[in-house]
Amino acid sequence: MPNRIEPIHPEPTLPGAKVVISNAPKVRLATVWLGGCSGCHMSFLDLDEKLLDLAELADLVYSPIADIKEFPHNVDVALVEGAICNNDHLELARQVRERSKIVVSFGDCAVTGNVPSLRNALGLDDVLTNVYHEGPGKAPHGSADHVMPQLLPKVLPLHQVVQVDVFLPGCPPSPERIWAAVSSLIVGDAVILEPAMRTFG
Ligand code: SF4
Repeated sequence: MPNRIEPIHPEPTLPGAKVVISNAPKVRLATVWLGGCSGCHMSFLDLDEKLLDLAELADLVYSPIADIKEFPHNVDVALVEGAICNNDHLELARQVRERSKIVVSFGDCAVTGNVPSLRNALGLDDVLTNVYHEGPGKAPHGSADHVMPQLLPKVLPLHQVVQVDVFLPGCPPSPERIWAAVSSLIVGDAVILEPAMRTFG
């Protein structure tokens, strides 16, 4: 039975991470939603009946689909969807890294910045003005301090903010690709993705 996982490599590895299993009853699995469209999580849910296999081996201790407010300590594997767009993302990414043994950069937005990073070509003021002041919505004018998270000057991929152990590209990664990675991680194996599973988009 797979159990506690410890990362071996201090440096990020592509495409896999070596892990060591110890004796806890179940792997503690988390999924995190940062600056992404949730499509990677939808693809995760498309594991369908494999979710039952996963539930045999892992406890989902944090996830937007489980609506748990606080990221817990002692997480074995954390899948992180989305880029780092604002100060809330930054804080949570650091917390995830601090409290997780294996951090997976989950999907193209986390791996490269992808769609959210399109705004990097624009000035931050231009983005805020266009969306919140001159756009079609009815957002109130004035300071957004303490109302919404503060945008970072540039959107960043996850590995530019915290150390990442496994990169899982794809927009979104297919369920087959997700299963190839997750099924290896929860039994303590290195993630070996075939070349066809290392593509972007
Ligand atoms: S990688 Fe694609 S599917 Fe995943 S969050 Fe980004 S845009 Fe959405």
